[in-house]
Amino acid sequence: MSAKKQSAAQNPDEEKRLKDKKNLALEIIARLKKEYPDADCTLDYNQAWKLLVSVRLAAQCTDARVNVVVKGLYEKYPSVAALAAADVEDIEAIVKPCGLGHSKARDISACMKMLQEKYGGNVPDDFDKLLELPGVGRKSANLIMGDVFKKPAIVTDTHCIRLVNRMGLVDGIKEPKKVEIALWKIIPPEEGSDFCHRLVNHGREVCTARTKPYCDKCCLNDICKKNI
Ligand code: SF4
Repeated sequence: MSAKKQSAAQNPDEEKRLKDKKNLALEIIARLKKEYPDADCTLDYNQAWKLLVSVRLAAQCTDARVNVVVKGLYEKYPSVAALAAADVEDIEAIVKPCGLGHSKARDISACMKMLQEKYGGNVPDDFDKLLELPGVGRKSANLIMGDVFKKPAIVTDTHCIRLVNRMGLVDGIKEPKKVEIALWKIIPPEEGSDFCHRLVNHGREVCTARTKPYCDKCCLNDICKKNI
């Protein structure tokens, strides 16, 4: 067997690398818990299907704007059945302020129709079934699994990808699915969902994208690899 094909368990260097990353991850998780005790999704929802709608609208839009726009949408269409029966053009007119109105409206309509026809208006608590829904990718499916069903989840959004690279939890990986797979190896499954929410908090407040990160006031300053 070539060295490349050796598993972590057979390759001492890889084993040590993973162990170091796991230890770093545990320390980061502990510190972020202290820093951000409440690890909540910033999209407002009180039913699972509403989180599906919001997460689709949140692509290239702020959560704050989505939270405003969905109020109007749910006033007019208060259930999966109502939204599934709505004209796509009407959905588009309402969700337009979130950007990409046409494709988002089309996906939301198709998704609600599938929920209604295949699942009796309910959201399935199965990752692969969620992935089959129109407009639902791994990030959204993980968010639903973690937040709605309280199951292990790793949500690799833009903050997560930027921060875990900077921190040194992953090494130069930018593709969301690859980051997710790398993180599953080092993050305790039960911590994944809250950890990712805290990365969003930290990414917005301290380890920012548009300005230089505020390392001098960061609770991870002494352990972060600062791959900026
Ligand atoms: S030390 Fe700097 S680069 Fe590392 S997480 Fe904190 S702000 Fe980001």
